Amino acid sequence: MKKLLPLIFFCCTSVVSFGQAPAYWQQQVDVDINVALNDQAHALTGDIKMRYQNNSPDTLHFIWMHLWPNAYKNDRTAFSEQLLQNGRTDFYFSPENKKGYINRLSFKVNNELAQVEDHPQHQDIVKIILPTPLPPAAAVIIETPFHEKLPEYFSRGGHINQSYMITQWYPKPAVYDVQGWHPMPYLDQGEFYSEFGNYKVNITVPATYKVAATGVLRAESKQDIVKTLRFEQDNVHDFAWFADKDFEVLHDTLQLAGKTIDVFAYYNKANAKEWANSLKFIKNAVNTKSNWLGEYPYNIVTVVEKAGASDGGGMEYPTITLISKTANEKTLDFLINHEVGHNWFYGILASNERAHPWMDEGMNSYYDLRYARFRDAQEGRNSVQKMPSFLQKRTPENIEHTLLQTIIGIKKDQPIATHSEAFSSYNYGLVAYTKTAEWLQLLERNLGTPVFDKVMQQYYEEYKFKHPQPADFKVVAERVSGKNLDDVFGLLYRKGSLTAPAAKDIRLTSFLNLR
Ligand SMILES: [Zn+2]
Repeated sequence: MKKLLPLIFFCCTSVVSFGQAPAYWQQQVDVDINVALNDQAHALTGDIKMRYQNNSPDTLHFIWMHLWPNAYKNDRTAFSEQLLQNGRTDFYFSPENKKGYINRLSFKVNNELAQVEDHPQHQDIVKIILPTPLPPAAAVIIETPFHEKLPEYFSRGGHINQSYMITQWYPKPAVYDVQGWHPMPYLDQGEFYSEFGNYKVNITVPATYKVAATGVLRAESKQDIVKTLRFEQDNVHDFAWFADKDFEVLHDTLQLAGKTIDVFAYYNKANAKEWANSLKFIKNAVNTKSNWLGEYPYNIVTVVEKAGASDGGGMEYPTITLISKTANEKTLDFLINHEVGHNWFYGILASNERAHPWMDEGMNSYYDLRYARFRDAQEGRNSVQKMPSFLQKRTPENIEHTLLQTIIGIKKDQPIATHSEAFSSYNYGLVAYTKTAEWLQLLERNLGTPVFDKVMQQYYEEYKFKHPQPADFKVVAERVSGKNLDDVFGLLYRKGSLTAPAAKDIRLTSFLNLR
């Protein structure tokens, strides 16, 4: 996710330590969904069938299940409370008809009705009691019908009139890993952690809609005034879809070293000028990361423009991303690169984003900076150096660095290794994103770019389609570089500057004085 410059200050700290990982395993959750959109009631009805494969060495007696649409049910959810804490009152004061929920659930496990218990704190998590314990190396089928009233768009998903952003929308097991269960409520600030699996999703919409979704369109059929589209994608840990009657669509193919993939852009007619070169930006994003990290593994990549006003950002899902309206083409290029880049840092390297936001947002932001240099070279532009020297440090490209230095200067920063929920909303942007990107640049200077690239490529190769932990990244970096990196990695747990501040570093005060 990318939000440009969040604007609230406050401060608390949590430190997550590196742990030694025993033999690696992960659960597998294959998902089949049939879902139909009612665009008069702004509602979904459907059924979901999950095959949950227990690859852990433990016998499971229950499964924590996320029901994230219930984050929008009332003003007593973790989502609602966090928005208030971060200074947003729009959801808290929203009328009933703008809220949302999921109901009409009836969980069966291997055809037997399962007992369901509430989470002690969170309305958007339940515990499915398994009628018989699930031993290691065995699987169960979990099924339920569902009905869902979509909220208006407050955070990542919902609807804006009849433009639908169907995200975090289906019952989804929490991750069970070597540390145990990771149930987590839906939050605006703080992302996700989900199990990999193979998805088959049949989406029924009024025939006038255009639909973009995770994965490849396998079949399409029309029945009177509705149509059903079947999307399939293996080896992903989430599935999102978007439906709008007025999408404009651009398509091309992209030749990678090992295969040809489809590239799609879905956008609103009114913004055709900004989106004219969008396919080129998507291809640049895929090409650069394929070269720097490892080839894009899927056969399709799609970028969708969010309806309505700008909220200054975007959000990533496997093979598909949502981008809010941008002020100009350059910002669109930057946002597309960031969100498409999340296919690597989140989609494929599926770290626990909630606990370690630096591992997805920060690493992805490092490649944003590298992409900006690549694009400047590609376009033959060097906007910063052409300016008078007194202006060079005051360009928007440097504003995040300047804000970071400011917040460090007034000692309101937090360590990079901080949990998403413990970050102030200001530090979530400046530390998890910007400071981590600068920390990776420090690692790059320490190792030299060729060795740094080998580290990142090896990390990708070893942990693609897995759940890497912070310690895993350090182990790879030390093994590939042959160096002890305790000092560099120690900086993740410390507040303050990564290096002694340069004399010419300016702070926000001088930035604001510029007229
Ligand atoms: Zn992001």
